[in-house]
Amino acid sequence: MRKTAVEFIREFDDFLLIAHVSPDGDTLGSCLALYCALLKLGKRAQIACADPVPKTYRFLPHADRIAAPEDTAPFSCAIAVDCADLLRTGRCAPLLSGAQHTLNIDHHGTNPNFGESNYVEIAAATGELVYHIIRELGLNPDEEMAACLYAALATDTGNFSYRNTTPDTFRIMAELLESGLDLPALNQRLFRTTSLPRLRINALAIDRLELYCNNRLGFCTLSLADLASLGATREDCESVIDIIRDIDTVEVAAFLREGMDGAVRVSMRGKTSADVSRVAQRFGGGGHRLAAGCTIRTTLEEARALLLPELEALLEGEGNAWKES
Ligand code: 5GP
Ligand code: MN
Repeated sequence: MRKTAVEFIREFDDFLLIAHVSPDGDTLGSCLALYCALLKLGKRAQIACADPVPKTYRFLPHADRIAAPEDTAPFSCAIAVDCADLLRTGRCAPLLSGAQHTLNIDHHGTNPNFGESNYVEIAAATGELVYHIIRELGLNPDEEMAACLYAALATDTGNFSYRNTTPDTFRIMAELLESGLDLPALNQRLFRTTSLPRLRINALAIDRLELYCNNRLGFCTLSLADLASLGATREDCESVIDIIRDIDTVEVAAFLREGMDGAVRVSMRGKTSADVSRVAQRFGGGGHRLAAGCTIRTTLEEARALLLPELEALLEGEGNAWKES
């Protein structure tokens, strides 16, 4: 509950904010906005993330202060931000379990309320929940907080285009604009800047695209060797899943990427009604109905063999529901 989160922050004085692995605009923007708010209240705060901040988000105010879990100073309270489950905190998990008090702020429907205190509510982005916390703490978002919250909202709503976008999202946006948000500059950094490795990865992914179920299932796998051959890293693969999803015939998209640890990272998207979070949960992951993910600890080929039938079954179920209605 929001009240629980606000009381948690009012009561204690030093906090570690934890962003999720493979950090995105929502987890980073939400952590940074909350970080700014805590400092304004005269509290001590630091941010930890198991993975480095992707280049796209390094311009965000104070992003350079985000540290690896091994580099954190002692603290008493830990707050997981936008972490759908404990696993999503990665190497920060021991910091969470070692804290005297924990709070879990998240907007994923699959979140198991793993905190001692939990503010888990379906929203377009965790940034929306953080915005409400900031207001209830009696603060007006300043320009820095607004930039961070904008990064959270704009990325998790696909530029305010996904179904998760609500009137509340736009009310928050109106207030952020009033605080002096530089919309064109932020959009330039967040959405209008790419790199050659990223473009080349997109080209390779299109080349490797596999289509099943009458072209309703778009599927793509990339290995570590593929990434290395183009001088690309994990973050260069971020738009692949959107490219597959945007194909007109595709209802369900899946992108499998071999990770540095040898495990396979899976991103899935649904377009209308197919609930991809069900498939993600079957493999120990989760997320939202139309955007979910999981990690499968096998080879790329084995992960493909495990996932394809599940996705085909999901689409067949959808097909039947369609016929019945
Ligand atoms: P993405 O494909 O962009 O990595 O993730 C899509 C959505 O699913 C995001 O909201 C993300 O937080 C969630 N998600 C991705 N991977 C996992 C996972 O391994 N476990 C859970 N619980 N959620 C995930
Ligand atoms: Mn999010």
